[in-house]
Amino acid sequence: MIPLVVAAEVRGTDAPFVVRLTATAETPDDALLRRTDPSTLVISHGRTRARIAGSDPSPFLGDIVLLDPARSTMQRLIRAGSRHNTFLVTERCDQLCVMCSQPPKKTHHDNFIHYERAALLAPKGAVLGFSGGEPTLYKRELFSLLERVHAARPDLRFHVLTNAQHFSREDIPFLSSSAGRTVQWGVPLYAADADLHDQIVGKDGAFRALLDGLAVLGQAAANVELRTVLTTMNASALPRLAHFVTRLVPFAAPWAIMQLERIGYASNRWNELFFDSSANFVPIAEAIDIARLSEVSTLLYNFPLCTVPPVYRALAPATISDWKNKFLDTCEGCSLRSSCGGFFAWHTDQAYLRLERQ
Ligand code: SF4
Repeated sequence: MIPLVVAAEVRGTDAPFVVRLTATAETPDDALLRRTDPSTLVISHGRTRARIAGSDPSPFLGDIVLLDPARSTMQRLIRAGSRHNTFLVTERCDQLCVMCSQPPKKTHHDNFIHYERAALLAPKGAVLGFSGGEPTLYKRELFSLLERVHAARPDLRFHVLTNAQHFSREDIPFLSSSAGRTVQWGVPLYAADADLHDQIVGKDGAFRALLDGLAVLGQAAANVELRTVLTTMNASALPRLAHFVTRLVPFAAPWAIMQLERIGYASNRWNELFFDSSANFVPIAEAIDIARLSEVSTLLYNFPLCTVPPVYRALAPATISDWKNKFLDTCEGCSLRSSCGGFFAWHTDQAYLRLERQ
């Protein structure tokens, strides 16, 4: 796994600050990163210094980092050359999904000011993610940040993961503005049946509120990516959900069916929740076929390619973030490896019944 937070001894300031790590420090936003002895890297920025363990600066060069003296950490907010940079807006959430990969907390640590500064320093044309918890619990702060960053950096694009339950008609001017159009809203929808959806997200009335939010997004002609995490609870309901999406959310592009991530709550209830798509792809195939007939673009996220029948493999891009991605011994020499997304780092070998090198 690639570490996103590194222990750092920070001197010369009490306040956290964001800098870009470079070998030459040519602008005021740059900090100089160099090796001082065989096991220490030093970051210099004006009168501040930070020390991290390591012998090779190259994995960090170009990163936009948050150095925090109080926590003695260096957080890699934007890793140079990575397509998977996401800001954690909050760990608070108003749902309690049965398979939540990041179980919510009651406290909120506000990092908007640092995320804004990091976004302004992002590489040209970068796509930056915002996730939680539920980011729109801080909707005003989030919209303001996106407006300011877009004004200064119109080249950037954003992806915000949200339960869409906090949008109202008053948000349409922002959602349909030039800043709002730089955002793709990733919205989880788990079933066409209100009771089943609410049961999966652990919140009464969530389905109803989600439909209202989707209506707002639709009216604003916002970019919506629907996300359906596959579990034993909703696998057989996928074809019905496909009909629902084609009728009521046809503007979704794409509709992503996602394999389960074995972390957080899903880790505790893995045997109960994991639906082995290598042993039974039937409801997934049926759902894809229904969506395709209505020209709703459908993708499979986090599916190892050999667990997908060949005719559907083109729909399964490599989506697992680089920092938490791995391959198994089985994958050695596989002809699909270059286009396969492999596994989450916390995956265990026994999950899929059929896993075959191609
Ligand atoms: S064997 Fe490994 S690399 Fe090949 S398709 Fe399966 S998961 Fe992907």
